[in-house]
Amino acid sequence: MQQKEDNLKDVISHAKEYGFVFPSSEIYDGLSATYDYGQLGAELKNNIKSYWWKSMVQMHENIVGIDAAIFMHPTTWKASGHVDAFNDPLIDNKDSKKRYRADVLIEEHMEKYNQKIEKDVAKGKKRFGDDFDEVQFLATNPNVLRNKAKIDDIRERMRVVMEADDMEGIYTLIMDLGIVCPISGTKNWTEVRQFNLMFSTELGSVAGDASKIYLRPETAQGIFVNYLNVQKTGRMKIPFGIAQIGKAFRNEIVARQFIFRMREFEQMEMQFFVRPGEEMKWYEYWKEARMKWHQALGLGEENYRFHDHIKLAHYANAAADIEFNFPMGFKELEGIHSRTDFDLKQHEAHSTKKLQYFDPELNESYVPYVVETSIGLDRMFLAVLSTSYKMEDLEDGKQRAVLSLPPALAPYKVAVMPLLRRDGLPEKAREVLDLLKYDFNCSYDEKDAAGKRYRRQDAIGTPYCIMIDHQTLEDNTVTIRDRDTMGQERVAIDELNTIIGKKVSMKALLKG
Ligand code: ATP
Repeated sequence: MQQKEDNLKDVISHAKEYGFVFPSSEIYDGLSATYDYGQLGAELKNNIKSYWWKSMVQMHENIVGIDAAIFMHPTTWKASGHVDAFNDPLIDNKDSKKRYRADVLIEEHMEKYNQKIEKDVAKGKKRFGDDFDEVQFLATNPNVLRNKAKIDDIRERMRVVMEADDMEGIYTLIMDLGIVCPISGTKNWTEVRQFNLMFSTELGSVAGDASKIYLRPETAQGIFVNYLNVQKTGRMKIPFGIAQIGKAFRNEIVARQFIFRMREFEQMEMQFFVRPGEEMKWYEYWKEARMKWHQALGLGEENYRFHDHIKLAHYANAAADIEFNFPMGFKELEGIHSRTDFDLKQHEAHSTKKLQYFDPELNESYVPYVVETSIGLDRMFLAVLSTSYKMEDLEDGKQRAVLSLPPALAPYKVAVMPLLRRDGLPEKAREVLDLLKYDFNCSYDEKDAAGKRYRRQDAIGTPYCIMIDHQTLEDNTVTIRDRDTMGQERVAIDELNTIIGKKVSMKALLKG
């Protein structure tokens, strides 16, 4: 675990050093848990967005995308339940004065037992090698069974108190489990209180409740209130989806772990409108489709797992997370929720407008059910960045930092370099650059020795470097160097487009 946490520190400093992510307003010592994406971060982020948008919208005839405003009529949030129910239980430790989400404290406590189980499995594997039967071990080992029983017991107690919004019950559970503050090490806790996560502000110059509006805590509601506009103007037939990428804001009790949990973040959400009764079929479909989207990136199948929700949100009848193995361990990356007809029915009631769909096949009108996929763009960014970042030992005893980003997501696809800054090589290199820049985001680099330039491109994840040398002037060939193998090959300039295009295209990812 320590090694993984160190990895997070390294990733944060690498992200800053190379212009991926900066602390926000750094010249004023920053603003807690707020970050700005730098010149390379913006490129990586855009590529992730593009991969998602293409896969959702371009690859599905029945999904379209919109871009709704952040501000919405305040009744939206009354209808959606966010004014009354978008709360987290918070608790303070009186000695350290630190504030925590009470449910997270309990979940982290449960995770300790999980880690014990993982340790026992690792020990077993080491001892018995190929003869080790993990399934049988998990089913019979007394230590594992004892820890599993503890987890099940806590999970059940937590489910009961969370579902009942029983703040005293949550407090009792924390005390019973003997959970201590990670900073002060004491159990000197305050009572548990509900805390609403929505940011509010005032519209125009009139203060007071009448003009109170909220920064949206999720992008989904912009889709719900527009669902009939889109359905009618786009002549959409159920089942169909509406996708959106945009900012969301939550006044998180504890925002931390770099860009994992921020108060301002970006979501990529898709609401899929289906016939009532067919939602579980589509829920399963989207769980699988979303997992495939992740796996296609090649960050390692073992880094993903599903996690079913203990407490369902106020709108859901089924919900699962796709968890990713972040430097802090397995945490939620994406949620797939079956939201029933809750939101649309609520908006019908509060707006007094009919939000029904006429189904020509059934010859009847109904309020559709909704299955949602919701992924945090910033968390996806962290997943990609932290998994791609590596320090590699080289043959000459030195080390290199390399970002083995999926080529389709890399900020620059190719770096074009003249070997020397004379003899007409820079001019020739610019010719090559002009040839490639319409298809690929290219970097031009002529400063420092070749080796140093290669290292710089490795560190920002550029899949290919192209070197223009004296031979290029004679026969129009260049060397092309591969980021991952560091192997170099001599190829004709005419072939470059095809070679690079094959490696960095999103097509292979989209085909899955
Ligand atoms: P968590 O349990 O981690 O608070 P959540 O279950 O409240 O997350 P959802 O409401 O399902 O999250 O939001 C969908 C996605 O938005 C999440 O899977 C996550 O990737 C992203 N997300 C939610 N809150 C934040 C945040 N504060 N910072 C960054 N991303 C977030």
